[in-house]
Amino acid sequence: MAGQTQTVSPINADEAELQKFATLAHRWWDPASEFKPLHEINPLRLGYIDNIAGLRGKKVLDVGCGGGILSESMAQRGASVTGIDLGEKALNVAQLHKLESGVAVDYRLVSVEVLAAEQPESFDIVTCMEMLEHVPDPAAIVSACAKLVKPGGKVFFSTLNRNPKSYLHAVLGAEYVLKLLPRGTHDYAKFIKPSELSAWCREAGLDVAGMTGMNYNPLTKSYALVSDVSVNYILHTAK
Ligand code: SAH
Repeated sequence: MAGQTQTVSPINADEAELQKFATLAHRWWDPASEFKPLHEINPLRLGYIDNIAGLRGKKVLDVGCGGGILSESMAQRGASVTGIDLGEKALNVAQLHKLESGVAVDYRLVSVEVLAAEQPESFDIVTCMEMLEHVPDPAAIVSACAKLVKPGGKVFFSTLNRNPKSYLHAVLGAEYVLKLLPRGTHDYAKFIKPSELSAWCREAGLDVAGMTGMNYNPLTKSYALVSDVSVNYILHTAK
């Protein structure tokens, strides 16, 4: 084997995408950093998840948890949260922040596919936010999330829709005009239409139960939950 290079990875992850997040990881909890949009949308998505699924006392898995913005907030609402990611630096930041905040979250460096084989049907709620647009095979992530949730449980996905408006807002607007995000954060070709995500959910045995949009208003500089799902959206499903 010596001298040979391994080119095929069995892991459903894009090394360049993981590297993007690794480079920024130390700024994860700085609300004025590149992660500002995640801090700003967090109360909205947290409220949406809690209203639909009721977090208190639930066993929750946060897939692609990054530095733990959503994971910690769900734990603060009384859920018992496991956060998984393949970004080691982000998980280190999450562990350090946990020491500071005192909010208990169980962080693990493991792929969602491996965890699904290890402990199927063991979570009441699975969340997978702003991650599907960064992986090579998002349908396989959806399927693994479906395996991990208990029958009757709920799975939430959020991602970016794919159309001229989302290109304008999420790539040109956010990365070039408003400079909310570093250039190259998002790859338009990987954006996902709700119809595509819904089809993957159904194939995985998840019933699509509802959707909401999350829009950024550059005038008020704030996000709001809206019925328009043409840019950012959250889809929720039940098994
Ligand atoms: N879900 C978090 C972070 C979103 S950023 C939030 O919304 O606040 C995207 C995260 O996905 C990064 O932490 C990145 O490391 C992670 N990620 C990318 N590909 C992944 C994969 N294949 N498996 C697990 N995590 C992945």
